[in-house]
Amino acid sequence: MAILKIIKYGENKILKEKTKPVEIFNSSLKEIVHNMIETMYYNKGIGLAANQVGFNLNLFVFDITPEKNSSVILINSSIIEKKGQTNSQEGCLSIPGMILPVKRHSYLKISGFDLKGKKIEIEAEGLLAIVLQHEMDHLKGKTIIDKQPFFKRIKIKHLLKKQN
Ligand code: ZN
Repeated sequence: MAILKIIKYGENKILKEKTKPVEIFNSSLKEIVHNMIETMYYNKGIGLAANQVGFNLNLFVFDITPEKNSSVILINSSIIEKKGQTNSQEGCLSIPGMILPVKRHSYLKISGFDLKGKKIEIEAEGLLAIVLQHEMDHLKGKTIIDKQPFFKRIKIKHLLKKQN
């Protein structure tokens, strides 16, 4: 297993690309996923999308438990149902040191596949619903910066440029 390098916002256009569906469920996919889980825990994240570590694949991992022993893998996910609205404050491993307000759905039902290609469904509210939407946005090439109003987005990009 290995800790992967997390791509920072503005560093690589892969963060802005819509990811491709996973077609082959083999041992190299398994290795990618296990390295992603290790990388997520190492960086104290609660979710990580494949394109954040350089893979153009529709998959993400997450674990919102404080014990950090219940990681879930979701491949080729899609939304079945979404309801309600909630305001969240979100950070992102690709945008270190920044917490931004984001409008999210408060309830979500999604489906996807596990590492064996078995279909799974997840119903979520609260923090889990927010994490799922955050990661699924990554897979569409969107980050929490893209969710900000136009002028705030310009300001943030300017600020990030100064930091680099
Ligand atoms: Zn993120």
